[in-house]
Amino acid sequence: MTIGTELARAVGDANVAPIAGEPAAWQVAPAAPAEIAEVVRLAQRHKIAVVPLGTGIRPSADRGPRVQIAMRRMDHVIHLDETSLLVHVQAGLTGMGLEKILVPRGLSIGDYPPAVLVSTLGGILAVRTPGKSSVRHGFFEDAVVGVSAVLGDGRTVHTRVAPRRSTGPDLARALCGSEGTIGVITGAVLRIHRKPEARFAIASILPSIDAAVSAVYLALREEAALAGVRIYDAAEARIHFANATPPLPAMSEGEALVVASTAGPTDLAACDRDLVASAVAAEGGRTADTRLAELWWRRIHAGEPTPVAGPTLQVTATPGKVRAVYRAVCTATAGSGGARAHVSRFDADGAVVFFTLAGGEAARATAETAAREAGGYLLGARATALDPYLIGLRAALDPHGIMNPNALRD
Ligand SMILES: Cc1cc2nc3c(=O)[nH]c(=O)nc-3n(C[C@H](O)[C@H](O)[C@H](O)COP(=O)(O)OP(=O)(O)OC[C@H]3O[C@@H](n4cnc5c(N)ncnc54)[C@H](O)[C@@H]3O)c2cc1C
Repeated sequence: MTIGTELARAVGDANVAPIAGEPAAWQVAPAAPAEIAEVVRLAQRHKIAVVPLGTGIRPSADRGPRVQIAMRRMDHVIHLDETSLLVHVQAGLTGMGLEKILVPRGLSIGDYPPAVLVSTLGGILAVRTPGKSSVRHGFFEDAVVGVSAVLGDGRTVHTRVAPRRSTGPDLARALCGSEGTIGVITGAVLRIHRKPEARFAIASILPSIDAAVSAVYLALREEAALAGVRIYDAAEARIHFANATPPLPAMSEGEALVVASTAGPTDLAACDRDLVASAVAAEGGRTADTRLAELWWRRIHAGEPTPVAGPTLQVTATPGKVRAVYRAVCTATAGSGGARAHVSRFDADGAVVFFTLAGGEAARATAETAAREAGGYLLGARATALDPYLIGLRAALDPHGIMNPNALRD
């Protein structure tokens, strides 16, 4: 029997197709974890790669013999517990698909950035990237209460869904971020939230980037649970709000614009907004029109277009190093057209500075060196290999190394 025929037996004739132009590559679209388990066992027997596919936002570079497991048919909500605020979903459902089910019930997956909405939940959990967080709701994987997966040896596992004090070691933590190298995530139990009763926006002009970063961390140290916050330097603000209504107020060169959003029960959201306002005042800031912050929020959460191309360099840094990274890159690139930037994705452990460099590749190399020397970490230079103990786990489950072999190479 050929592999194609065996795959058709596992998932049904209509749900297997050869990948065009490749003699030994198939795409299958299973409907259940049991079918995925069958496909993985079959791939182990034939020693061909297994590559999970969510929405394919980042198509893998895999070529050669493989079975691509498309998750599109596994897009159902299995159980919604509105009392415990938990939802059990299949991994092929997108964030947007889940939000469409939750919002009419007064619920939401939370204040996560758009990447979460357009991706499959399995893809989001498989790739832990720093973009998937908000101060208010933490990292998206923190919402994971349990994970179901088919491991590299074809075994199906469901991590224990119980109050945390009753659980021991948690395989879910290893599966999140493993990019399909340990197993195919088939479903997850996620913590969800009530839709906020109120949402407030606040915009302010600070005398400098240093003052703006200090104000944001002052508010965070006061435990303001912000739905989002961003700092623009003057050059970046002028470009992002070029034709905004209301217009951006005049800003001098060193100044910074801070926009923030708070959400939740009205009193709490107002309290968070007031914490930001006091922090801004303490750092010598002045208020700007809140509609600038509302426009920023609509751009990142309601699909309103941003009239600016994406940044060219992303650097993450601990709270104490953000200012130094910003200064170092601006100084180092001053002779090659300079840099403008915004800072966002604030967390207790750091923030991301998004630079747009005016110069070409040489400026980029200079900027990268300056950012590193100032204590920053270049994004894109994220972990590309599993930690040694996970390499051991992987080898035990998957002796032929067939599980997403080009992801997180070890
Ligand atoms: C290397 C890399 C770096 C990224 N960096 C960032 C970033 O810095 N910021 C940001 O916002 N976004 C980043 N992304 C985008 C991020 O991938 C998406 O937010 C999300 O993971 C894509 O979901 P998707 O459904 O389109 O998955 P896909 O693009 O289809 O798959 C993404 C990866 O996850 C694997 N995968 C998909 N579904 C499953 C599953 N159910 N079980 C196991 N593995 C699965 C795939 O094989 C593939 O390796 C990055 C993606 C990759 C691959």
